Amino acid sequence: MSDIDNESMKDLENEHRIATVGSRARRVKIEKGESWLVRFIPFPMGKNGAFYARIAYHWIDRKSTLCIRNTGPAFGGDPDYDCPVCAAANKLYNETASEPVRLFAYKAMGHPRWRTLCLVVEKNNTSIEGEELYLPYEFDLSKTTFTGWSDMLLRDQKKGTSKQGFLDLDTGCDILASRPNIAIQLQRENAGPILGISDNDKLDRVIDRIWKRCSPPQLTLPARTQLVEAADRLREAAAKEAQHPGQNRDDLNRQDSE
Ligand SMILES: [Zn+2]
Repeated sequence: MSDIDNESMKDLENEHRIATVGSRARRVKIEKGESWLVRFIPFPMGKNGAFYARIAYHWIDRKSTLCIRNTGPAFGGDPDYDCPVCAAANKLYNETASEPVRLFAYKAMGHPRWRTLCLVVEKNNTSIEGEELYLPYEFDLSKTTFTGWSDMLLRDQKKGTSKQGFLDLDTGCDILASRPNIAIQLQRENAGPILGISDNDKLDRVIDRIWKRCSPPQLTLPARTQLVEAADRLREAAAKEAQHPGQNRDDLNRQDSE
């Protein structure tokens, strides 16, 4: 068998493994008390080349609607957009005396999250083996977690060693993401090349393999009519919440979690 045949067979085997891993996007999901060892990767997410994407959704009755105002401009957002859902949520929050309704309105405000991409090296002290090690995961960071993440990157950039800081494929480090309570905490571990690969040629091949599987978020911007409809649903849901406080508590808890 020629080298080319061998190569293409290896490719096919890899693709087969990827297909069997599942077609859903792999997401980092760290439950309370868990910790995952990850390696954030400096994949450019938007036309601005940033390694993260700010994405905001309004959640109303388990249905999400993208918030154009709070989503990053590189991903179709517009800070000056007059979002009817934001307006309805703010009005409810500011003008309602009922605490449960104010909490409900607060949750529906379209708080952004920051999508990053990473490799998962360990889940709760269990090493990831084989092909899964090279599959990028989406890791959506809450405001608190992203504050810590960006603070770390800014400090690294000021030190001047690498613009990519802890995400640098050569000089970066793994990050232990743990969730002792509600918020996820990030801690540096294992400085050095990604996946411990010090051979330059091998590193190039591995990076090429990982990059092919990364993609920036594909967001569909809602039409104006959809946003107006979502704002109506928000007002209806808030009215129900005022009559029966807490009946939507399951939804609230879900959004509360990281
Ligand atoms: Zn909005």
